[in-house]
Amino acid sequence: MHGLGVYLTREGEEVTNAVQWALEAGYRLVDTAAIYRNEAGVGQAVRASGLERGDVFVTTKVWNNEQGYEGTIGALNASLGRLGFDFVDLYLIHWPNVDLMNGTWRAMEHLLAEGKTRAIGVSNFEPHHLDQLMTTATLPPSVNQVELHPNLSQTAVRRACAELGTLVQAWSPLKQGEVLVDPTITSIAADHGVTAAQVVIRWQLQHGIATIPKSVRQKRIIENGDVFGFVLDQSDMAAIDDLDRNDRIGPEPDVFGQRYVP
Ligand code: NAD
Repeated sequence: MHGLGVYLTREGEEVTNAVQWALEAGYRLVDTAAIYRNEAGVGQAVRASGLERGDVFVTTKVWNNEQGYEGTIGALNASLGRLGFDFVDLYLIHWPNVDLMNGTWRAMEHLLAEGKTRAIGVSNFEPHHLDQLMTTATLPPSVNQVELHPNLSQTAVRRACAELGTLVQAWSPLKQGEVLVDPTITSIAADHGVTAAQVVIRWQLQHGIATIPKSVRQKRIIENGDVFGFVLDQSDMAAIDDLDRNDRIGPEPDVFGQRYVP
């Protein structure tokens, strides 16, 4: 439910340190992607941790230009090579491409059956993308990873995912730091004697939303993982729910998913 994101974390020491600190702090989930170009460092840090491979959950994603049946098979094999793993725990379609997603999903189901990934899912899928996927899918996505934070609470996506039994996972859960100065959030944080980041992460977890905050600083990685010693009450949750403005910092899925195609 809770993990470390490594977008814009440099391959090499920066990513190996971040993953090492997270695993030491009790995190057991790391979210990477082929396009982040840091899978080798993620794999290295997991292997060096001394933890069993089965105790750490690693997600990676097929990038837009490798979608389609053949491209996706090749993309996961290449990711496994960089990670130095026999399998990943979750493989995601990074962005929805309406022309390619059904072939991509057929490959994902094949990779799941082969044991090269333990679960398959999607990212940045709007309800209409889920509908299109399900016209040919044998299995629904286990996860839909979408931009989600207090200013974009993704009510429609959450409803569509609930109908499919798909877990929603929040990317940019802190809106890349922007929501941490919101007075509603800082005031709730002060009431509980915790930080704004901890309040936002806790809001997601209490909604049953998985979350993958990013940091490359050890102190913040520890802080973002230390969210199990307090509980937001109903009025805190409602006040944060009220901050929804349908305000994205990332691209529109319908536009971005059609870019960078093979
Ligand atoms: P985020 O919302 O996690 O914000 C990270 C930034 O917030 C940090 O760089 C730092 O500036 C600040 N921050 C983090 N912890 C803090 C703390 N405790 N106190 C103060 N400031 C703090 O943004 P993100 O990195 O965009 O998203 C998280 C992860 O989601 C990524 O690393 C990646 O794994 C994933 N992601 C996925 C997609 C996708 O298309 N599927 C897109 C973007 C990100």
